Amino acid sequence: MSFTSLGLSPVLLKALAAENYTQPYPIQKEAIPAILSHKDVLGIAKTGSGKTASYVLPILNNFKSNKPLKNRHIKVLVLVPTRELAVQVEEVFRTFATALTDRVKTLAIFGGVSINPQMMAMNGVSILVATPGRLIELEESNAVNLSEIETLVLDEADKMLNLGFKEEMDRIFALLPKKRQNLLFSATLSDDVNNIKQLLLYRPEVIRI
Ligand code: AMP
Repeated sequence: MSFTSLGLSPVLLKALAAENYTQPYPIQKEAIPAILSHKDVLGIAKTGSGKTASYVLPILNNFKSNKPLKNRHIKVLVLVPTRELAVQVEEVFRTFATALTDRVKTLAIFGGVSINPQMMAMNGVSILVATPGRLIELEESNAVNLSEIETLVLDEADKMLNLGFKEEMDRIFALLPKKRQNLLFSATLSDDVNNIKQLLLYRPEVIRI
C-alpha cells in the first residue's frame, strides 16, 4: 500500500516523495484516513513508529486558510512534554507545510528560554506546538488566543502527565472551544491517559501499534 490510497492531496504526495517517505508506516495507514475524515483518534504508539507524520499530514491536508485568521487566534494546537519534542514536531509541520500553496505559519514554544521573542513570533501563527507551562504564560499575556482551535493534539500524553503537567493541561482544556477535533497519542494507556480519553475524545478511532 502506498500513500496515494490514503486520501492525501497531490501536493503532499509530492512532498512525501521528496522526503523519501515511500510507504506509510502502520500507524499512518490507520490514522491518516481517520483524521482526514475529522474523527477523534487515540493512538497508542511509541516514538519511532511514525506517529508525528500520522497527524501532521492529515492536519495540513485539512487545513483551510481561506477563513481569515484573527490576530493571535491559532487553529491547531499540539501539546508536547518537552522542548526537544516541540522543536522536532514543528520541523515536521514546516517540512510538509512548505509544499502547500496556502501560507501556513507554524511555531514551537517552550519554557527555559526568554518569552519575549516567542511573543513577537506569534503574529500570524496558525499551527502552534507548545509545552503546557509556557503556553499558559503566553495565554495569560494575551499573546495567544485558544478560543478558535479546530484541532487539538496531545503528543506523548503519558510523559506529559508523568512530568506533572496535569493541572496546566486542565487549564488549557478549559480555554478551548467545545467543537473541535481531538487527537491523543501516548506510548502507554495508563489510567491517567484513559481519564483524558474519557474527558476529551468523542467516539475515537483507537489505533494500537
Ligand atoms: P516519529 O515516530 O514520528 O518520531 O518518526 C520516526 C522517524 O521515521 C522520523 O525520522 C520520520 O522522519 C521517519 N518516518 C516517518 N514516517 C515515515 C515513512 N512513512 N517513511 C519513511 N520514514 C518515515
